[in-house]
Amino acid sequence: MVYVKRGYPRLVVDLNKLYHNIEVAKNKCAETGAEIAGVIKGCTGLVPCARQFERAGVKYLASSRIEQLARLKENGFSTPLLMVRIPMLSETEDIVRYCDCSLNSEMAVLNALNEQAGLQNKIHKVILMADCGDLREGWWDKGEMVRDALRVEEQLANLHLEGVGFNVGCYGSVMATPDKLEELIHVAEDIEGAIGRELEIISGGATGSFMRVMDGDLPERINMLRIGEGILLAYDLPVLYGYDSGDLYRDVFTLRAEVIEVKDKPSHPVGKIGYDAFGHQIRYEDRGIRRRALLGLGKCDYGDPAELLPRMQGLQILGASSDHTILDIQDVVRRGIEIRVGDILEFDLKYATIVYLTNSDNVEVVYI
Ligand SMILES: *Cc1c(COP(=O)(O)O)cnc(C)c1O
Repeated sequence: MVYVKRGYPRLVVDLNKLYHNIEVAKNKCAETGAEIAGVIKGCTGLVPCARQFERAGVKYLASSRIEQLARLKENGFSTPLLMVRIPMLSETEDIVRYCDCSLNSEMAVLNALNEQAGLQNKIHKVILMADCGDLREGWWDKGEMVRDALRVEEQLANLHLEGVGFNVGCYGSVMATPDKLEELIHVAEDIEGAIGRELEIISGGATGSFMRVMDGDLPERINMLRIGEGILLAYDLPVLYGYDSGDLYRDVFTLRAEVIEVKDKPSHPVGKIGYDAFGHQIRYEDRGIRRRALLGLGKCDYGDPAELLPRMQGLQILGASSDHTILDIQDVVRRGIEIRVGDILEFDLKYATIVYLTNSDNVEVVYI
């Protein structure tokens, strides 16, 4: 028998709220003529989450991880699957087997995909990525990109050049301004000039480009956005950039964690101070004796404790080790609220904490 952990910590996923967010994003994009690739890597491709994207009718289901896309195929999904990380040469066979389309930036990989598609008797679609300044994936030299696009078009018979795309924001923090998107359209038009036909897709980025949709100034030829965070969490645009996304739920995911100890203790460690469990030197503030609580989960489950957002007012996260999270609850107690061993505390999450929690075997995922 395989042991499956139950109870807490527990990640609660509200599928109706998720579906609502997908619908809102999809409809807003549709107003400006853009379709959506629903990017599910932020929740590790959880199948019930992916199902909401399929139900809402997105153009592609997308992930950076082949294993997540393969799982969807094995679960009978019919939405076309898009690989958004440039494929490794070593995974081209599976990319062709499981994905309908992939984002690409290397001729060596495109040649291998073409060969695999031939062997598997398929036509694999490709979107070529331009680097317009964010400095992650994509051709920097646009002349070379046009020449390579022409080679895909004319020489790689088992590939279909579906379009071009770019990514901004993820590494270089470059924003998807209208002129950045126009740069991408120029690249697309140069390629169209070379191959003598129109491209089907110009994929204008990720959640960051959704602000163009909100502002109503997404350039007309951008007809696809690849959106993950903006649907799963809807944090970046309202919180970082001040957009009003009042109709998007920001609490699709809730962490529920169990209190395993409650005691009054000094707030400064007692003894000669060296390094913490992760080899860091930490400065501890001395606030006298305060009530503390421990939760039965730690950095292994969610990464950085600063990215857990307590729903209970006055509750402060002091730190964490691999399997423990340490809370200061003095201000909660002062407000007359008791926290006892066995109590369950709730937290809002950020993108990274959702990624980690959905990867942890220690966390039960519960759908409501
Ligand atoms: C992760 C990723 C996305 C989705 O990004 P979000 O910010 O979650 O919307 C889109 N495109 C590529 C290439 C990605 O790697």
